[in-house]
Amino acid sequence: MALAALATIAALLVTVGYTLLCLISPFGPCRRCDGTGNHIPWRDKRRAANGTPTKPKRRIRKPCRRCKGTGARLRIGRRIHNHARRIHADGTR
Ligand SMILES: [Zn+2]
Repeated sequence: MALAALATIAALLVTVGYTLLCLISPFGPCRRCDGTGNHIPWRDKRRAANGTPTKPKRRIRKPCRRCKGTGARLRIGRRIHNHARRIHADGTR
């Protein structure tokens, strides 16, 4: 019984914490470009994961296609909130 109560409190704390995070900072770093806004070729990502140093090459800066070069993405919680608000606004007109 005490374990169930503890698990419920932990789940509530995580939910409230994520809600506050979405309220304070609705944008998180882009996962494709790690928040840099620059396009990272897949082979460079693979080399970074392996620990192999990448050759310092002069490369033309290409914006990340996923975040359009902003380096930010809307958090999932904020996306759900925006969707719910849009449904409510459309339904109460
Ligand atoms: Zn990006």
